[in-house]
Amino acid sequence: MPEARFWRESQSRYNMIGRRCGNCGKVFFPPRDICPKCRRASMGKMEKIKLTGRGTVVSYTEVHEGLPSFQMQIPYTMAIIELDEGARITGQIVDCSNGDVIIGSKVEAVFRKLGEEGRSGIIYYGYKFKLTDGNKRGPKPIE
Ligand SMILES: [Zn+2]
Repeated sequence: MPEARFWRESQSRYNMIGRRCGNCGKVFFPPRDICPKCRRASMGKMEKIKLTGRGTVVSYTEVHEGLPSFQMQIPYTMAIIELDEGARITGQIVDCSNGDVIIGSKVEAVFRKLGEEGRSGIIYYGYKFKLTDGNKRGPKPIE
């Protein structure tokens, strides 16, 4: 099926690439060229790093009113995610029900359609996040 094939073949193009400061080791995504902590000292030492796309929800909000392009998806959950490498980014959590996302939920990046330009029909894709299998709701083991 064409769509599945598209995703398979594009996967390598959509790796999450960040930057790691060669001086202090801090990781940035989206990538930046200068480490705000080290400033000049780190210039030229920012190295590319492939991120796992996995992280932890540190804050979230359920959005019930959206921009026009998001209206098909209301309500949706936006979260601040701390990636395993340390960078924090904001993203939408997909494939979840109300109440599924909590602070501390483990998530991983997925590529999804972000929107569509009406006249041109251009479809935009970008990062979204989904809960990893380990955190699906249901009976939890006794700790
Ligand atoms: Zn630094």
